[in-house]
Amino acid sequence: MTEAIDERRAADTACPDCGTALTGGGAYVAWCAGCGWNTDPGAAEEPTGRIEQARRRLARRYGEQLFADLTAAGGRDGATGRTGRSGSALLASGLALAVHGITLALLAGGIAMIVAGEGLVPFLGAVPLVVALVLRPRFGSLRKETADRPVLRRPDAPELFALLDEVAGAVGTTGVAAVVVDADVNASVHTCGVRQRRVLTVGLGLWEALAPQERIALLGHEFGHYAHHDTRHLLLVSHAFRSLDTWAYALAPQPSASLLDDLVNLSTALPRLAVEGVTTLLDHLTLRGSQRSEYLADEAAARVGGSKAAAGVTDRLLCAEILVGSLRRETIAARTRRNGSRHEDAVEGLWRRHAERAAAVPASEYERLRRVGELRGHSVDSTHPPTHLRHRLLSGGEEHAPRVELDAERAARVDAEFDEVRRLVARELLRG
Ligand SMILES: [Zn+2]
Ligand SMILES: [Zn+2]
Repeated sequence: MTEAIDERRAADTACPDCGTALTGGGAYVAWCAGCGWNTDPGAAEEPTGRIEQARRRLARRYGEQLFADLTAAGGRDGATGRTGRSGSALLASGLALAVHGITLALLAGGIAMIVAGEGLVPFLGAVPLVVALVLRPRFGSLRKETADRPVLRRPDAPELFALLDEVAGAVGTTGVAAVVVDADVNASVHTCGVRQRRVLTVGLGLWEALAPQERIALLGHEFGHYAHHDTRHLLLVSHAFRSLDTWAYALAPQPSASLLDDLVNLSTALPRLAVEGVTTLLDHLTLRGSQRSEYLADEAAARVGGSKAAAGVTDRLLCAEILVGSLRRETIAARTRRNGSRHEDAVEGLWRRHAERAAAVPASEYERLRRVGELRGHSVDSTHPPTHLRHRLLSGGEEHAPRVELDAERAARVDAEFDEVRRLVARELLRG
């Protein structure tokens, strides 16, 4: 009701630049759809630091270039035809393997020195051995990861897991071992432990704001990452990045206080440059790959959930800040009323209120956010292509019909399995 009044009030106000009636207003930004006045009032704070700025520029270029490639390839179907890794991603894998190869060589060298060396050599062998141990890839464990967050497993949520299996099957992969639930406006997949168990993380901040069919599309996107082996690739590359970080730390120049410091700095200069070079190269190679895999995962989302639902998910991501704000409002409100029963009431209704706020975002605000995306030209982080381009790729071109459909009855059954974790996450959120 108040929003309708606010909207009218905004419409009464004319644009100071061109005189057109303003769009939005009230809880949302008042802006001019005619000339674009005030479209991006929180204008892009440019990232500080030369490297981050260069990354953003590169991310923008790759995002736009990939968009052009994918649309030129005959719309989204053209994109699916080429699910193989691009050359740069292959090169990144090769480079990452080379980094791990050095760790392996150190390990082998250390062992050889200890076993076959004479005199002092076996003792010196401890040095490369320790370095290799420090550099080794570390796989997290599922138990450790799920220790502080609610987790759903197959016996807890048979309906959900049946749905996950179905969506996974539709994109050509298999389901997950566990579903970790938190309050984020996000969702993600990864593998963990030496046995490489698959874990899906569902952020209720996003999940609860989605319509049932959009949830299918979201799951399609996430399983698309498994189907395209993005997580395996990511694991290989992220471990290489960690090794390189350790090298960079160890080789960092010392403040020069004596001739010895200078000599040490001089001797580490070459390997230091090599580490920097490899890190930059790997970064550039993976930037393109990660953006590409997002577009391809969107393609999987459209095939499973339907194009309309997949575009709906990118819309929700576009207004992620509004969703984050909605949850923050709940936390702040909870601070002002600490007493028992009312606190429980707040927990009960939290996700319903959040979903209502998400549903209340007017079309004009989505339009504004899309224009902000165009103006800024990049997404919040450089691993994802600009959201407005993802949306455009999904909403333009031929429409995909959903392969997996979630009717109201099944949606309710899946929903019921979230009841307990929903309450746990809400309680945790209100604790602030
Ligand atoms: Zn105007
Ligand atoms: Zn993704």
